[in-house]
Amino acid sequence: MDNTHQNTQKENQQNQKKQYFFQKKPQIKKKQCKFCLEKIKEIDWRQSQLIKLFTTETGRILPRKITGVCAKHQRQLAKAIKINRNLAILPYTTMSLK
Ligand SMILES: [Zn+2]
Repeated sequence: MDNTHQNTQKENQQNQKKQYFFQKKPQIKKKQCKFCLEKIKEIDWRQSQLIKLFTTETGRILPRKITGVCAKHQRQLAKAIKINRNLAILPYTTMSLK
């Protein structure tokens, strides 16, 4: 008798977990790429003010997870940042200054 009772409890717990899983799934929202929304096909490296937004205070390139930029634009961004670094518009790092 006890075993069957435990089994039903386990099944109930599993069902609750499943329901929770299904409830949570549609809540995940996709971040939209800023450049795609504004229909910018190619990122211009001369727009250093805009490119600056995608770097941290220490000069690192922010990952796609945080900014939500698509893969195509992230590649262009990385290139643009590297050009700006080479021209001393953006810093490679500011860690050594602290
Ligand atoms: Zn994009």
